[in-house]
Amino acid sequence: MGRRKSAPSQIPPAPSGRPQLLRLHNRTLILSLLRERPMSRSELARQAGLALPTVSRLVDQLIHDGLVVEGKKQATGGRHATELRLRAEAGFVLGAELGRDQIRVVLSDLQGQLRAQSERPRGETAEEDVAHLAAMAGALLDEAGIDARRLTGIGVGVPGPLDPAAGTVIQPPNFRGWSYVPLRQLLQRRFRVPVWIENDANAGALAEFVLGHSHVRNMVYVLADAGVGAGLVLQRQLYRGAGGAGELGHCPVQRSGPRCPCGRRGCVEAIASTDAMVARYRGLVGRSGDDTAPAQDFAALVAAEAAGDPRARAVLDRGGRALGAGLALLANLLHPEVIVLGGRSVQSPSFLAAAQRELRRRRFGTGEVMVTTTRLGRANVARGAALLALQGLFQSPFTASFAPGADEPPAMEPGSHP
Ligand SMILES: [Zn+2]
Repeated sequence: MGRRKSAPSQIPPAPSGRPQLLRLHNRTLILSLLRERPMSRSELARQAGLALPTVSRLVDQLIHDGLVVEGKKQATGGRHATELRLRAEAGFVLGAELGRDQIRVVLSDLQGQLRAQSERPRGETAEEDVAHLAAMAGALLDEAGIDARRLTGIGVGVPGPLDPAAGTVIQPPNFRGWSYVPLRQLLQRRFRVPVWIENDANAGALAEFVLGHSHVRNMVYVLADAGVGAGLVLQRQLYRGAGGAGELGHCPVQRSGPRCPCGRRGCVEAIASTDAMVARYRGLVGRSGDDTAPAQDFAALVAAEAAGDPRARAVLDRGGRALGAGLALLANLLHPEVIVLGGRSVQSPSFLAAAQRELRRRRFGTGEVMVTTTRLGRANVARGAALLALQGLFQSPFTASFAPGADEPPAMEPGSHP
């Protein structure tokens, strides 16, 4: 964990007109470049396409604001230049996952290094969950010995559907207590820092890409759990389409298949979600008149598979085939170099093998698609959410003036985290 990789750069074009906007844009550009790696002033000027005196003035201000430090001298073609680097501990971001059962929170520095993390079960209502999240955030900052005023942004990964512009969680299926919750507004009011809300599969995809597969250009992360969703990284950027891209779970793969919670039939999720597989297994066990206790949850279903129960294997194999059909759609349409699978379902060997077999069977063309399982594990959504907050801070000229140091850091509401 904690490899120094930065998210793909995407600096908006320089604004024309007001000079302070242009200055802010250039300041953000310098910070983004230093986030990639340490550089000298002259290299910064080259990379940014700015005049050396302009860069020097900006750098002096950034040093004064505590965001950049001078490092060792480096020899460059006979001349000595002082290396500049981003001061990673100048600010911190929180990344959170509101999962169907768990809340996870991670604390990361400006360079994306993990400093602390925690998790707990979800509550019964959205209000409870937001209160839990705030309490966890406060505890993590305390644990890491970090002044809350150094918090500069928050990213949250939640199940869709979302209204990304408003930062509202609409009404995720099987997500108790949440209906049209203005999550961004609630958290911004509480913490007084910018907040980014993202679909959980997208957040997971960003973490898998930045921390594990940044050498490829196109990658798909598939979350196979109680919901099934895909996060798409295309040409090194998270792809959202008009907002709702990646709904792999609701791609139909079986005509007149089982009814999906979305109201349609034969969706990937209707067959391959953990809930659908547990329900089907219970049905099979019930019909066979077997009096052994049927699996109560997905962990019990995987345990039955490991114990050699052929019905458990058949159910997981069927789910895996449905997911594999969905993966083939993705592979044939997008041809990513890598598909990363995560979520509880891929812990089942039958499920995973069936998904890969079905993908190969339906794959058109000869191009290689590597299929792998997550190496980041279940913290990938929270880590991706933290990376999103960092991306947001470093990409937007309007939110990059968070500098602690000369200016007073953003103030927290009194008592905003218990
Ligand atoms: Zn559906």
